[in-house]
Amino acid sequence: MADVQVLEPRRVPLGGVRNLDVWRTLPSRERTLVGAWCFVDHYGPTPVVRPGRDGMDVAPHPHIGLQTVSWLFEGQIEHRDSGGVHAIVRPGEVNLMGAGHGICHSEVSTPDTTVLHGIQLWVVLPERDRHGARSFQHHVARAVALPGATARVFIGELPGVDASPIETATPLLGVELLLEPGAHVELQVDAAFEHAVLLDAGVLRLEGHELSHAELACVAPGRRTLTLDAGDEPVRAVLLGGVPFDEQIVMWWNFVARTHDEIVAARDAWQAEDAGRFGVVEGYQGPIRRIPAPPPPVARLRARNRRPTEGPADNVLGETPASPAF
Ligand code: MN
Repeated sequence: MADVQVLEPRRVPLGGVRNLDVWRTLPSRERTLVGAWCFVDHYGPTPVVRPGRDGMDVAPHPHIGLQTVSWLFEGQIEHRDSGGVHAIVRPGEVNLMGAGHGICHSEVSTPDTTVLHGIQLWVVLPERDRHGARSFQHHVARAVALPGATARVFIGELPGVDASPIETATPLLGVELLLEPGAHVELQVDAAFEHAVLLDAGVLRLEGHELSHAELACVAPGRRTLTLDAGDEPVRAVLLGGVPFDEQIVMWWNFVARTHDEIVAARDAWQAEDAGRFGVVEGYQGPIRRIPAPPPPVARLRARNRRPTEGPADNVLGETPASPAF
């Protein structure tokens, strides 16, 4: 059992125009990454009291060095980015936006959304890809019936179940799992991957470890199967995985880089409205034009990649002074 690490979520306000609290498990004091997954936020189900007026409104903000992965359980979000993409994020459909050297985007729940419920994930890009062009991929995941469960593979391959056509820079896995009450499910997995299970609804045991809402249970590489047991209610969970990522990274606000100076350069470029670096979002109609960057970091940022064997770090996100905006 020593190879299972359960990360407890912390509640943080999402940066943006309207307050939406999210439950964040990555990055944490104990751990920086699962594969190349570097950021895991869970939110909702949150009722939208006045549909069309309340809900999510995240004004244009920048990213570098990462891909955002949006996956909804309920509701819909209108996405606009400076790569010229205008898309609606819907439940069961994955959207993956590659920032490369620089991108900016906005996220607004649609007027008919009455409940916000989903996850927002980031993937760190490896050195050879992180300076590249903006990109966007979309895939409607199939619902595949298993004994006692339904699986939607949105990234990577779950052997014997399904594979997603989404292209990733490092080997990754992302699967939504719905388990029937009392179900016992054994999933075949790639032994070279480390894995993590995020619990959304119900009670779930992973390899005998009981998970609570929004907790993330991380499993070291070396396993060929993962065993999940549902409690007395239906379970919804998300399985993530990937080959351990060996580069040291710096995360600050919405940026993933390798050095302090890269972070400061990106921050200054955003504040200077450097459209050459980040482009421009067309068509966003919110109450503010863009989200300003926080003040520059005072202490020098250090690259990190905290593994479960190292014990807790003395400060949480190293490094993140203001909540990232998804
Ligand atoms: Mn974002």
